[in-house]
Amino acid sequence: MSVFLLLLAFCADRIFGTSGEAIASSCVQHPTLPDGTVVPIEETLDGYVSLPQCEAIGLVAVYPLKCENGAWYGFTPTKVDADTVHFCVLPEDPVVQSTAEYNLHDLQLFWDRVARENEPVSVGCPSDALGCFKFDEFDQQYNRESEVEFLGFPLDNPSALEYDFHVDKNMREFTFGNGLEGMIMEYGSKVFAVLNADGVQGLRLEIHPCAIGAECEYFLYRAQTQFQAQSLGKVVEDLQSHNRLIEKENDAEGRALQERTDQLVQERLANVPENRRQLSSTKYISVTFLYDPSVTSDGEAWFAAATAIRGFNNALRGRDFLHRAVFNALASMFGRFELLLNAVQPTTRGALRNARSGTCGESPSPPILGVCVREHNNLPARFRSTKPHCLIPQGKLTGSAVGCANKVRGVSEMGHGSTSYIIRHELGHQMNADHDNECRCKVAIFGFCIDTECNLMYPSVGNTYENFFTVGSFRTMSQHAQGL
Ligand SMILES: [Zn+2]
Repeated sequence: MSVFLLLLAFCADRIFGTSGEAIASSCVQHPTLPDGTVVPIEETLDGYVSLPQCEAIGLVAVYPLKCENGAWYGFTPTKVDADTVHFCVLPEDPVVQSTAEYNLHDLQLFWDRVARENEPVSVGCPSDALGCFKFDEFDQQYNRESEVEFLGFPLDNPSALEYDFHVDKNMREFTFGNGLEGMIMEYGSKVFAVLNADGVQGLRLEIHPCAIGAECEYFLYRAQTQFQAQSLGKVVEDLQSHNRLIEKENDAEGRALQERTDQLVQERLANVPENRRQLSSTKYISVTFLYDPSVTSDGEAWFAAATAIRGFNNALRGRDFLHRAVFNALASMFGRFELLLNAVQPTTRGALRNARSGTCGESPSPPILGVCVREHNNLPARFRSTKPHCLIPQGKLTGSAVGCANKVRGVSEMGHGSTSYIIRHELGHQMNADHDNECRCKVAIFGFCIDTECNLMYPSVGNTYENFFTVGSFRTMSQHAQGL
């Protein structure tokens, strides 16, 4: 037996808060152009890249700048002081035509206006939000029937709400401003929405219904998209639980779960006959999310669950032409799989809130993982899934860990700007994927890479995180799925 079969992967995914003392250094001074003009830019952590706000002085940004040891640098093509680089140019400059991509200007104005005209909201906002405001005008401004605009933003292509059987909700994905991503989820009579979901230039906005009892209908917040990341994933030997795992996967309960999942897919597809063809050869792996109703609302849990499952399944399609080709070849070898959101269920009141904290990756494993499985086992059979995942309050994992998982179970902390990515990463572990350090160049200037993007199984959450799986992760997960 391979030694790898004796290992059980645990993971500790860590970020340092941006309000705390853990931050080493950042660039707080604004950079200047060669003629001495000061250009605003948002405060940026050491080692990260930002785009100067050239539009504030009537110009257009053509180079991002990198913060190193508290100072700004450009790359043209060698590293030089920012004040020797023409990083802002006139709008008619030919270089603009090749570098201008997104139109973030209107989104920035929208955020500035809502923030200026509305009261701040504190209840229900993520702990690391960069501002959170009452947004009751959303009810009037949102036109459910319009396929060409959203809140006045013209869409790049028409889009409509559609039933997604993977998550059992009406969802709508669209792009605006030359490719900025947006998403809408209907939850009962309420709506959740995300604008600039990828956080291009750090401006990701979310619209959520206010908590029950709060004096508002909706709030708008700006999500934290910049994190200082630290890599601390771990693998520990845990022969005993590994054996239990193997038994569980092959036992009658595992087969019953898979049969119920297949039945569930049939039931949901009965509502959308035109989708029946998609069934052909895909294997669906069911996921049940649990949340503690004393700390998390059902709507927030649903939204986190649905966006994570959709993001995960999108990543399974491959990130570019090459990935798609390799993924398709692997899928024809092992069979294709996708995740299916079976249920989002409350735990016993206080069960997750009252769990003791523990260290991910050490033995014994954090108590919250045990609580998660126990609460899942207490659910009625139809709500139980092959992969249970608990949405936990912050502080149940020691240190700066924000998620923890093995093949059987996983937990992710709610209330981070990156919660949806944390869940996708932990679900990757639950599908047997290990950590993978592969990153690619995202922004290159004259052949120099100044900003990277890393895959979902990268061992930490940072602002280099992108929604894709590596070929290695895809292969491991596909094989695991066929054995379920
Ligand atoms: Zn991990």
